[in-house]
Amino acid sequence: MAVYLDEPLPDEILFSVIARYMQRARIESTRGFLTVLTGDRKGKGGDVDEFEQLADETYRVWEMSASEIRSRLTLAPFYSALFPGNGRIDALGRRVRCVPWSGYLAPGRPGVRYCEACWADDDRNGYPRYWRRIHQLPGVVVCAEHGQVLFGTGFSFSRDLLTTVTKHERGHPLVSDMSRELAKWGDLATFAKHLLNERCSWPQLGAQTSHLDLARKCGYVVGGKLDDERIANDLSTRFGTEYFGAVTSTHDISPELRRAISVSDERACAPLFALLAAYLLTDVGGRLMGSEGPDCPGSVSHQDENHRVLRWPDRQGRPHFLCSCGLSFVLDRSDSGASITPTQEGPDIALAAVMLVARSWPVQSLVSMLGVSRHAIETMIGRRVAVRPWRRRTERAKRLVQWLELVNRQGDADLAYRNSAHLFHALGLLIEILPDAVKPRSARTFCVERRVRGEK
Ligand SMILES: [Zn+2]
Ligand SMILES: [Zn+2]
Repeated sequence: MAVYLDEPLPDEILFSVIARYMQRARIESTRGFLTVLTGDRKGKGGDVDEFEQLADETYRVWEMSASEIRSRLTLAPFYSALFPGNGRIDALGRRVRCVPWSGYLAPGRPGVRYCEACWADDDRNGYPRYWRRIHQLPGVVVCAEHGQVLFGTGFSFSRDLLTTVTKHERGHPLVSDMSRELAKWGDLATFAKHLLNERCSWPQLGAQTSHLDLARKCGYVVGGKLDDERIANDLSTRFGTEYFGAVTSTHDISPELRRAISVSDERACAPLFALLAAYLLTDVGGRLMGSEGPDCPGSVSHQDENHRVLRWPDRQGRPHFLCSCGLSFVLDRSDSGASITPTQEGPDIALAAVMLVARSWPVQSLVSMLGVSRHAIETMIGRRVAVRPWRRRTERAKRLVQWLELVNRQGDADLAYRNSAHLFHALGLLIEILPDAVKPRSARTFCVERRVRGEK
């Protein structure tokens, strides 16, 4: 039996074409009809393409092979770009348990989605209102064509998917369209659309082979460990809590992000988090290679007021920077691109600033004694919560506070040094970035000698 499904409309997803046919032909038995279309997979060998029967049934109208159906009517190209490598789509099918005839629509939040402006276009063009692939991509809450917030209706569980989508009932907006994060949601939608249309693949920056390598280049690997908390934090700042409430029921996103970045090649992970990690690392990595930089990985753009980057004295010939958020890093440039490595000095300075303000030091004194701008001091104090993960490294920050208090009391760094040289030397590499006003003259030469010997 040949089934005369409609010619698919631009970017239409497979379930949308099937639902429209079932509605017009008044087909009651969904299960029976799907068996006709896609065949009974039980008892067939694993190497039979899941769209083989559909391709046969529809060939007279569509003239598409099984693999053309997969690439034009499903989200498979998106997943292939996100999880490059052989057999990844099978791994993904097992992981997200989506049925192929749904177009590889992953179940769960935020359900099936449409854009009101796209449907208005359909009405104008004399098309039936249909469901587009770009709206069904995991994590997408904005139409990449119109920039408008998408509406969601029902959940994308396959058992009632076809019923839900034939009703065309008015859904609810997934997120507020007045949010200041709207532009970022639009950027993510565009990024996801490019993956779907194979206009970029991930990882695409330089010759990196693993996501973990890219995370390292972007400064998210600290002391050999992936800083998934900071990645989660930076994504939350970009997209806001409302966004995460709409797209996932997971409260703590950092373990999922860790999995998305460190997952091995043969395996898949939750596509939402793979997309978010890919988006973040592509954005941070891309700006790292730009000439304007270096930008702090936490910044949302080069102009981000919360992440103003200041140049510190070089460290072993490499430029060293402090961001007003408290993150500090050295920058390496080579033919294969740029990479940043976080250093410990920024968090220690930020922590010392917080401690000194708590001890009623005026901000102006901190500016001169820490050698950091007023704006940076104020931002660091404002973000005191963000320095908490660095608790383990507070020892040196405490020493810095003690040292500055001593200098302040004695009124002179040389005098302070004569009394408590050990306190000064306990500051280690922090000495490099401190202003001369708080460094004893005798110790300045010591520092230089030490650096020449390559000591820490
Ligand atoms: Zn639209
Ligand atoms: Zn920053």
